[in-house]
This record gives sequence, C-alpha cells and structure tokens, in this order.
Amino acid sequence: MNHYLVFLEQRGGVVKQASLELWNMLQAYVARQEACVLSGLLLGAVNLQQLDGKLHGDGRIFYTNNPCFDGYNAEYDVRLIAETFTQQACTALFFADTVLSKELAPKLSIRLKASLLSGVPQFNQSGCDYGARRAVYSGAAFALLQPECAPKIYTVSSFPTFVANPSQGQREFIALDHNSPSLSGGLLAVASQLVMCQGAKDLTEADIIVAGGRGMGGADGFVLLERLAELLGGAVGASRPVVDEGWRPHSEQIGQTGKSVAPALYIACGISGSVQHLAGIGAAGTIVALNTDRHAPIFDVADYGIAGDVHFILSKLIDAVQDVLKRK
Ligand SMILES: Cc1cc2nc3c(=O)[nH]c(=O)nc-3n(C[C@H](O)[C@H](O)[C@H](O)COP(=O)(O)OP(=O)(O)OC[C@H]3O[C@@H](n4cnc5c(N)ncnc54)[C@H](O)[C@@H]3O)c2cc1C
Repeated sequence: MNHYLVFLEQRGGVVKQASLELWNMLQAYVARQEACVLSGLLLGAVNLQQLDGKLHGDGRIFYTNNPCFDGYNAEYDVRLIAETFTQQACTALFFADTVLSKELAPKLSIRLKASLLSGVPQFNQSGCDYGARRAVYSGAAFALLQPECAPKIYTVSSFPTFVANPSQGQREFIALDHNSPSLSGGLLAVASQLVMCQGAKDLTEADIIVAGGRGMGGADGFVLLERLAELLGGAVGASRPVVDEGWRPHSEQIGQTGKSVAPALYIACGISGSVQHLAGIGAAGTIVALNTDRHAPIFDVADYGIAGDVHFILSKLIDAVQDVLKRK
C-alpha cells in the first residue's frame, strides 16, 4: 500500500497556500489508486481550525505545537519528519517547492536514504509513482524523471487546480508525542532570526506576479510594479538583464537561471519573452504582456496583450485597480 506524507509548511501560524494546494492535488492521485492513503504533517503552533474547508478528501494530519518549532530550526524539522515518516510506514514524502523545502528535502533524502526529485512541475498523468515531466533546453523538450529507489521525496512546484467538494472527506487530527526522542538530545538553539524583506511575498508561492524587464528603463521604473503588486497582493519579479544591471536582487530573477514560478496571473512588463525567460513561467496560468513592440515574442505566449508604453499603461492600470478596490 502507498502512504503519502505531505509536509504542511506554516509560517507565523499560517499554513502556506502552496502546501494546501499540494495536499488537494495529491487527493486526485490518491483517489485513482486502490490502496493509497494521504497524511499531513504540521509542525508548530497553528490553529487547526484554519484548515476547515481548505483541505479536501480523507486523511490524517499529524501535528505538534511543541515550542521547538516556533522559530526556524531545520534540524528539529528534519528529525520529526523522518521519525513520523518511518513510524507511519510512509512510501513518499511531498513538499511544496519553497525555500524551506530546499533545505529540508536534501537532508531528509540522506537521512531516509530516499530518492529526491526536486522542483517537479508536473507528474506523469498515471500518477506520482510514475515519475515527473520537466521542461529542458529552455522548454524545447521534456525530460521524464523517475526516482531511482523507494522511498521517494518530491518537492512540487506547481499544482493543477483540484476540483472537488471541500466538504467531502474527513480529516483526523493526531497529536504527536511531545516527548519524542527526536526533540531531545543535541544542543540546538536559534541564536537569532534574520527576517528579510518583511511583507514581501516569496516569488515561488505568489499567486500573482508583476514582473519587469529592461523595458522598465531603470530601477525607478519598478516603483510602479511594486505599487501594482501591493494592490493585487502579489510579488515583483524580474528578467535577467534587470538583475545584471543591479536594478533588482537576484532573488527576483525568473527564468532558466532564475526561479521557476507558477502564479495564477503573470503580468510581464517590458519583457521581450526570450526562451530563457519563458523557461521560468511555463506553469503560469494567465499571462498578460505589456510591450511597445507588438512583434515581441512575449505576445506569442500571452493570453492578453497591450501594445504601448509600460509606464503609461501601468499608471492607468494602478488607477483602475485602486478604483475597484475603493468600491469594494
Ligand atoms: C544561458 C542563459 C541563461 C539566461 N537566463 C535567463 C533567465 O533566467 N531569465 C531571463 O529573463 N533571461 C535570461 N537570459 C537572458 C535572455 O536571453 C534575454 O536576454 C532576457 O530575458 C531579456 O530580458 P528582457 O526581456 O528584460 O530584455 P530585452 O530583451 O531587452 O527586452 C526588453 C523589452 O522591453 C520592451 N520595451 C522597451 N521599452 C518599453 C516601454 N517603454 N514600454 C513597454 N515595453 C518596452 C522592448 O520592446 C523589449 O521587448 C539568459 C541568457 C542565457 C544565454
């Protein structure tokens, strides 16, 4: 029997949307198999009621509000995830592809002697046990990736919408033992925690991304993008030349040598749409492009396009969004 364990990542007591979507997506795969169950693991002080109506299908959620998990301490996370995975005889472990998962998944892969596939954009249609598909050569081809051995660990970067009635299914919450051996022993302490860019959204988890390219004309042009992203509750992204010019930090670069993103809405402003940039937005939902050059390749992949000066269009767009928000 297959037993999938999903790490339900939380920050500040709020479970990440990407983790919730991952759980719901996996329910679709679980439903197609005869013998397969899904469990979740939630570490840290979280009000479990926030999950009402957000998690679909059946499953057990293991949780602990042990204060060890209040701050950032990957070592404790690794210990308890490994212990739960082993005790519950799980066969595969799933993470949303977040910054934290990039630290936890490789460590767990060593500890559990598991195969790790990271940044999986798309599972094989037959199910996650049949490997994953990933775009290679700037989207010119697909590679089929198969984990070498069991157990398997996946970090998943995009989640097709799972259509189901959230009221269906039952979740059982099971408290983990506070005196777990994983949480004792060793001298582990967080001396200080550095919080960068407070309020800014992690690009890989953002539902809406407003990205700028060389057409923004300089670092100052990004003030408009920041304003629009703030109004829409999204994040700001950038093309490589923007980062190379030092207009924006590398953490915002999208594309082949930057991040792969999967927002529901991607607004590309003054971006030409090179293959290297497009390699990072293959999983985006609706793409809107703003560009003076009506023959720019970005219009080939855009769902909506506006040909014109980006500064002018963005100012109008910001006014319009403000108007709509005021009327709400
Ligand atoms: C190995 C390799 C890896 C790479 N990795 C990446 C990567 O990860 N990410 C990435 O983005 N690139 C990457 N690149 C670079 C890539 O090839 C392109 O050079 C880059 O994506 C172009 O960025 P851009 O669209 O911002 O700039 P440009 O191609 O210069 O396009 C600027 C666009 O802005 C438009 N424009 C100009 N003024 C205005 C205005 N006032 N209003 C509206 N539109 C305007 C222009 O018409 C043009 O289409 C990589 C290249 C290589 C070789």
